[in-house]
Formats: sequence, C-alpha cells, structure tokens
Amino acid sequence: MRFSRLRLTGFKSFVDPTDLLIQDGLTGVVGPNGCGKSNLLEALRWVMGENRPTAMRGGGMEDVIFAGAASRPARNFAEVALSLDNSERLAPAGFNETDALEITRRITRDVGSAYRVNGKEVRARDVQMLFADAATGSHSPALVRQGQISELINAKPKSRRRVLEDAAGIGGLYQRRHEAELK
Ligand code: ATP
Ligand code: MG
Repeated sequence: MRFSRLRLTGFKSFVDPTDLLIQDGLTGVVGPNGCGKSNLLEALRWVMGENRPTAMRGGGMEDVIFAGAASRPARNFAEVALSLDNSERLAPAGFNETDALEITRRITRDVGSAYRVNGKEVRARDVQMLFADAATGSHSPALVRQGQISELINAKPKSRRRVLEDAAGIGGLYQRRHEAELK
C-alpha cells in the first residue's frame, strides 16, 4: 500500500480544504516556522487512529479542530482523508477489494470521532488494525517524532520491544493478544 493523497479540512491551521499529493519517492515538506509542517504529520497520524491528545500536542482531542484566527471563526469539525494506492492488493483482508482506499476520520465538537473506509462507517479499531497489519500506523517506527530517538534509548525493554514488533509488522498481532488478555 502506498499513501497517495492527504486531504485536510478544518484540521489545526488547515482551515480550508488542502490536498497534499504524495508521489513516488521522497516527499519533502519545507516552509517557515509555524507554517504547519508538523500539523501535516499529525494529520497523518490522526487519520490512522491516534487517540492520545498529547501526541497531537493538544490537551484534548477536539484541539485538532481549527480554533479560529483574527479574521476567521472557529470550526465545528475537522476532517482528514487519506488515500491509499492498493493496486498491488497488499491491504489486509477485509479491505482488499479495491485498487484505492480512502480512510476518513472526522471529529465534531461534543460528538467525537467517526471513521469511514471508502465511505462506509467503521470502528476506530478497524482503522488501527488496518494500519497495524500493514506495519504503518500511528505508532509505526516509520513515523519518528522529534525527541523520539532519545525516548527510545531511555525506554524500558518492554516498550522498546513494542517498537521492534511494529517494525517487524506484527503490531496487529500484539493488539489482538492485548485485547484477548483483557477479556
Ligand atoms: P516549525 O518549523 O517551528 O516546527 P511547523 O511548520 O511545524 O513549525 P506547526 O507546528 O505545524 O508548524 O504549526 C503551528 C501553527 O499551527 C501555529 O501557528 C498554531 O497556531 C497553528 N495551530 C495549531 N493548532 C491549531 C488550531 N486548532 N487552530 C488553528 N491553528 C492552529
Ligand atoms: Mg514543526
């Protein structure tokens, strides 16, 4: 699976619908301080099911909604849509019927988050599993936050093992085992 497009609407500083086309090869995001580079990566993490407000530099999950500026009122919802190229049909079972997948997450004030895959409503867990099985996802070692390297060096063995498991693509198994243990 390959990321092909990220669309943000009302997400943090991206108040108007904004498309980021992700082409083959390396994509660089450059711009002055505060222009929204980190917000773009947070949008990617968020649409894949990130549920910790702290990972989004916020106090609560609704802080991702455009909060208003001098000339623009605040919004009531934020939406991020991630398009995936699945022409090689590598998506996990249940998501592997189409050449393209669009995962959408929308948060509405006082309502919470709703997820869709190709327009059909799904649970947060379904989206998290989709990416965990594909060895991407919001906890994926492919997404390295600032400060994360030193965190990893100082981490307890258990959390370090978790990173290695995600890198090996067995993060989905770990999540399922964890759920089974809770039952
Ligand atoms: P740097 O180069 O300093 O790392 P950056 O390009 O990564 O900067 P970001 O941190 O992505 O910039 O963007 C910060 C901007 O996003 C700030 O101007 C902040 O006010 C704005 N912002 C964050 N959350 C919201 C929100 N909910 N509503 C409106 N604006 C927001
Ligand atoms: Mg930044």
